[in-house]
Amino acid sequence: SIDTLYEAHNVRIADTSRTRHETNVRDRTTMILTAVSFLGGIVFFFFASFVLARHIIRPLRQLRNGVLHFGAGDLSYRIDLQVENELGDLARGINTMAEQLEQDQIALEELAVRDSLTDLYNRREFERLLAEELHRAARYRHPLSLLLIDIDKFKGINDSLGHRVGDQALRQVSGAIRDISRKGDIVARYGGDELAVLLPETPMEDAVVLAERIRRMVSNQPLEADDGKTVDLTLSIGVAMTSGEITTGDALVDAADQAMYAAKAAGRNCVRRADPSVGASRQTHLPMSMP
Ligand code: GH3
Ligand code: MG
Repeated sequence: SIDTLYEAHNVRIADTSRTRHETNVRDRTTMILTAVSFLGGIVFFFFASFVLARHIIRPLRQLRNGVLHFGAGDLSYRIDLQVENELGDLARGINTMAEQLEQDQIALEELAVRDSLTDLYNRREFERLLAEELHRAARYRHPLSLLLIDIDKFKGINDSLGHRVGDQALRQVSGAIRDISRKGDIVARYGGDELAVLLPETPMEDAVVLAERIRRMVSNQPLEADDGKTVDLTLSIGVAMTSGEITTGDALVDAADQAMYAAKAAGRNCVRRADPSVGASRQTHLPMSMP
């Protein structure tokens, strides 16, 4: 009986030891699996963060930057997002929209500064550019000249041939002046049949030469109205230049205006210059520009 008990005890001990060993192996396996899962989780976390940052957060930031630029009025900004997914489509859509808006804005800005009949700068833009050029001329001590040009007996063209022909005449004269002017010259419709040409970095002598060329060109090109009639067009031109006395836009325009009226008084179709040494109050008359 004792032997049997002893044997049973040994068997029991062996069973227990095997069970403990198996349990140990299982525990270790579980631990390894847990550690591997944990490390896998961490790797997955970093990988997912990387993917999220690269494919979602960074593109979203670029989109946000773009929208902030457009919101601040910078329509020339473009979102640089070259990806083939929904965010890329969104960026391309926003860029196309910004491009369209930018083009519309440029067209509107052009419309706002142009005269619709002649396509020259309008009075408001002329005054803005005049202030700018005066500032530049004073700063760099450069001469700035102005031609004020008025069509002679224009009312007569309107009255005898109608406003449509009058409009045609205005367009023809405007086109001729624009063709003859240099790139930096500013040609504007000052009002009615009066046009202005602002000549940066141009002294009086050169401005008078240009005025005379304009006068001659227009008088040599009669207007051909639609009904076959031809209409002679002539101009009276006043020329003024900035000087010690003429320093403001108003003074420069007044001086050119008075010179232009002097041209009218001298019989029209001629050029007259304002004397820069005496400001807007006196003009000298040029025999060279008489018809
Ligand atoms: P002067 O030689 O003294 O300048 O005589 P004028 O007949 O040209 O007189 P004035 O310059 O005062 O006349 C300007 C005319 O220009 C009066 C107006 O009916 C006409 N006018 C102004 N704007 C336009 C326009 O856009 N189209 C047309 N067809 N006529 C205009
Ligand atoms: Mg006139």
